[in-house]
Amino acid sequence: LVSVGEAQAQGGEYMKYKDPKQPVAVRVKDLLDRMTLEEKIGQMVQIDRSVANADVMKNSFIGSVLSGGGSEPLPKATAQDWVNMINEFQKGSLASRLGIPMMYGIDAVHGHNNVYNATIFPHNVGLGCTRDPELAQKIGAATALEVRATGIPYVFAPCIAVCRDPRWGRCYESYSEDPKIVEQMTEIIPGLQGSLPPNAKKGFPYVGGKTKVAACAKHFVGDGGTTKGVNENNTVIDWHGLLSLHMPAYSDSIIKGVSTVMVSYSSWNGVKMHANRDLVTGFLKNTLKFKGFVISDWQGIDKITSPPDSNYTYSVQASIQAGVDMVMVPYKFDEFIQDLNLLVKNNIIPMDRIDDAVSRILLVKFTMGLFENPLADFSLVNQLGSQEHRDLAREAVRKSLVLLKNGKNGSAPLLPLSKNVPKILVAGSHADNLGYQCGGWTIKWQGFSGNMDTSGTTILSAIKSAVDQSTEVVFRENPDSEFVKSSDFDYAVVVVGELPYAETAGDSTTLTMTEAGPNVINNVCGSVKCVVIIVSGRPIVIEPYISSIDALVAAWLPGTEGQGVTDALFGDYGFSGKLARTWFKSVDQLPMNVGDPHYDPLFPFGFGLTTESVKDLVARSTSSAASVRACVFTILVTLIISLYLTGEAQFIGGY
Ligand code: BGC
Repeated sequence: LVSVGEAQAQGGEYMKYKDPKQPVAVRVKDLLDRMTLEEKIGQMVQIDRSVANADVMKNSFIGSVLSGGGSEPLPKATAQDWVNMINEFQKGSLASRLGIPMMYGIDAVHGHNNVYNATIFPHNVGLGCTRDPELAQKIGAATALEVRATGIPYVFAPCIAVCRDPRWGRCYESYSEDPKIVEQMTEIIPGLQGSLPPNAKKGFPYVGGKTKVAACAKHFVGDGGTTKGVNENNTVIDWHGLLSLHMPAYSDSIIKGVSTVMVSYSSWNGVKMHANRDLVTGFLKNTLKFKGFVISDWQGIDKITSPPDSNYTYSVQASIQAGVDMVMVPYKFDEFIQDLNLLVKNNIIPMDRIDDAVSRILLVKFTMGLFENPLADFSLVNQLGSQEHRDLAREAVRKSLVLLKNGKNGSAPLLPLSKNVPKILVAGSHADNLGYQCGGWTIKWQGFSGNMDTSGTTILSAIKSAVDQSTEVVFRENPDSEFVKSSDFDYAVVVVGELPYAETAGDSTTLTMTEAGPNVINNVCGSVKCVVIIVSGRPIVIEPYISSIDALVAAWLPGTEGQGVTDALFGDYGFSGKLARTWFKSVDQLPMNVGDPHYDPLFPFGFGLTTESVKDLVARSTSSAASVRACVFTILVTLIISLYLTGEAQFIGGY
């Protein structure tokens, strides 16, 4: 970095854009004025890590690199490996003519989920049930630190979809079916980016330094409203509906200074969002005054299909004209660059549009301090998976649990469970599987079906460490009923649910748990008192089995900290979560959301039983025992005094 004095002393040219004392707007303009068309177009390109290297970065002026869901996961890389890889790309960018730093982006949608040994927080579906925006903010701050620990300054999060149909494979990425809850949870943005300074200008991006990251509100707009919850499909809704259901969280994110917005694969009333100029430019940029940059989804522009003979060049044209500023290409960047070049040279895309796109990208890069600190260092590596973050995730798990049933047919509640019994049974496919517990978007895009070699605690191991040493914990994934009957278990914990999935692979019309799940419930709950814990990305079919279950808990996709589940199960803390989604009886009721005319759920939106922690219970019963004692004492004293007085009166009277 060269200061005015230094530049002059070295006889070099003073470049305003390199001077951090200059206002950001001045720096943006100065740099833009120096850029060739090729350099500008390069800034608008985001490529996959697998096609990036220092030469490509330098020679094609690439603005951004990503690790996406579709990218090959980086084999068991440490935080240091990530930092080294990213710095290598960055050095290429810095060696380009103007030395514009690139910006590396990653999907950190429930913690830094691509990276081994990171803290994995509950997916959004669980966080919505906490109704705790402050917690969301803390999770954002912790995520930012872990992401920065690997040298990455940009995350494609939060997903602020309002999922209106649980058949959608991305429903777990949504905080709620209720736009108000989604809006509240955008509080994660100041966590990720830092809280806006008091003099912040509305709509401008903000990232508060090296421990924060640029956030991305996605997917604009209506991604959670597609017909029958089919991923990437058409959202049929009128303008009022779009504004009242799907738009509020965007207005809020912009007020909170979100740096980028990602466009949705879906269409609104038949028009692909990636080609929707009215909404992307007209509404998001002009009406809502969003000043950060708009990024496409992964190969999102390729899916523009009208006119019918559209080809890639048309997709480039339509998306850039619609207002997309940066394109997640992510592989065929040469073709994209050539096409955009051609479109500008033929005056089909005006230079103004390119300048607007590039200015927005540079604005974010300057604002976040990338020009001053382009290279990552190792100072934050210990933040990855730190104990403090794990404790926070554990708290989030505990608060996200929703207690749906506690006690069968009027019998006494089963929860909290006793830690001090001779023998308990733990059963079900999801009891001892970290991969299932984390769901999709964990290390791999589709999540892990085998056991995942990363730090964390399964529900089974959390149970083992919660109960007394003398309690025998027997684990059987699929116990038969004879086995259950012939053993003298005090109670059973059954953990069942869905297998991990992401995006379209998760679309479902049946919403059932895994095949073995119902058998385990029947075999166990028929013979011993049982609590069933559901690990799933959304409400699933449970009504047919519910009568045999003593207690039922929705744990959603809790992530790596299984102890959050046992914290509430054994009464160290009470249950407090409230459904942020409607729990249907059968799939033929779908879609069914709170406020619908024929609302007949199994458990309504907002439902959630509460329990007191054992500590509070004991404190209350001791204080009530104390007050009973105090009461008896008062009565006795009163009696004695009145007897005495009566006696005295009699005496007086007798006298
Ligand atoms: C998803 C986005 C994600 C992107 C990059 C797409 O398939 O829709 O949410 O940010 O991939 O991984």
